[in-house]
Amino acid sequence: MTYDIIKASTIFQCKKCGDCCKGYGGTYLTPDDVEAISRFIHTSPDTFIEEYCQISGKRPVIRQNKKGYCIFWDEICTIHPVKPKMCREWPFIRPVLADIRNWEIMAGSCPGIHTDFPDEVIKTIVEDELSKKH
Ligand code: SF4
Ligand code: SF4
Repeated sequence: MTYDIIKASTIFQCKKCGDCCKGYGGTYLTPDDVEAISRFIHTSPDTFIEEYCQISGKRPVIRQNKKGYCIFWDEICTIHPVKPKMCREWPFIRPVLADIRNWEIMAGSCPGIHTDFPDEVIKTIVEDELSKKH
């Protein structure tokens, strides 16, 4: 196989299983995320943080339900148009560039991630995807 034609969608296709919306240390929110989500659900940023978040290390994290899922997960992401930066970027995230072994580890909990490509190919795609989002 020639690796020149490999795209992001070749190494990752979301299966919509919701596993990444469960547990996993929580979903951190940037100030922009807080603004966008609170507007989307028609509340104020302060009320949103109070009612939908908990604070972890001074940053807001979306609360989880009793089953350990993000409270916005209901067989789909119910805030998909404004989902947090962390969710939008997955799995093309900086820790993969810092250590490619993170791709393998992430694949262990995300059935959409494919690992059968050379490390350099995966890193190049992750770099490209990150550059598109910043
Ligand atoms: S765990 Fe992976 S495949 Fe499943 S919903 Fe999350 S990103 Fe998609
Ligand atoms: S905001 Fe959406 S994509 Fe992100 S963890 Fe919650 S349900 Fe999943």
